[in-house]
Amino acid sequence: MAIRIEGKLLAAQVKERVAAGVKELKEKGIEPCLAVIMVGENPASQVYVKGKVKDCAECGIKSLEIHLPAETTQNELLQKLAELAGDAGVHGLLVQLPLPAHIDEKTVIEAIPPQKDVDGFTAVNVGRMMIGEECFLPCTPAGCMEMIRSTGVSISGKNAVVIGRSNIVGKPAAMLLLRENATVTICHSRTENLKQVCANADILVAAVGRAGFVTGDMIKPGAVVIDVGINRNAQGKLCGDVDYDAAAEKAGYITPVPGGVGLMTRAMLMQNTLQAAQKQALAK
Ligand code: NAD
Repeated sequence: MAIRIEGKLLAAQVKERVAAGVKELKEKGIEPCLAVIMVGENPASQVYVKGKVKDCAECGIKSLEIHLPAETTQNELLQKLAELAGDAGVHGLLVQLPLPAHIDEKTVIEAIPPQKDVDGFTAVNVGRMMIGEECFLPCTPAGCMEMIRSTGVSISGKNAVVIGRSNIVGKPAAMLLLRENATVTICHSRTENLKQVCANADILVAAVGRAGFVTGDMIKPGAVVIDVGINRNAQGKLCGDVDYDAAAEKAGYITPVPGGVGLMTRAMLMQNTLQAAQKQALAK
């Protein structure tokens, strides 16, 4: 039976370290601050933003919640971003996605200065990650890596399979595994023989967005299984991409949903915000 990788415990450890770092900065007169812009009334986004504000409070980070109406134009949003980008009291800046259809996400993301891009979504931060330079790592893949490392299983030389190739999860997760010398395969909607490929994975990261997509027969005995998915099953219950019970029979380590990657994603955002404040303080 697999050992559960407890997101709650690991996230609490990260947030404790962040809180200590925040305290140090405050003693030097710097109050780390994260600004979160939300456009419209997406209910899931409202929950996520609330979580970020709560995490900030727990870590001692100041949060600015900027809620703009759904009919906000792209230019109005860009103006707000420019204002926050130029505000020395704001260290981290993010726009909650998705945005209403009349606003171009790429244009908005690129309006965030890389040094305040604590989501790690701008082309500059993604590029730096690719070439192994210092950058803000995207929070979900960074959280996955923390969870894998927490097992003590060595990553170097192992077969790692990532299912999903999105810019915010699949691709960067694969890149971070490669950086730690895993032999990485990225699977996606056109992949042939998916089951066989996954069944050979020492480390399996599932980021598909389909409940029960990863079945027990896709798990190599002893594998580390990281479930990024956030779905609702037929009963309306929150669940991941992995059939947890079946996978836990074979895996060595497995993350639950809820209580897994989602909590680590939130914790990594706090870590990035602290780092943003530390770097900006040094750059002064
Ligand atoms: P996405 O829809 O952008 O990407 C899904 C990926 O799955 C695609 O790259 C696609 O190629 C692949 N895919 C689809 N069908 C497939 C198939 N039959 N076989 C193999 N691959 C297939 O989604 P995303 O933004 O990467 O998110 C993935 C999941 O992770 C979602 O459930 C999302 O809610 C969740 N998520 C969780 C967190 C977190 O903090 N836990 C953060 C971001 C996303």
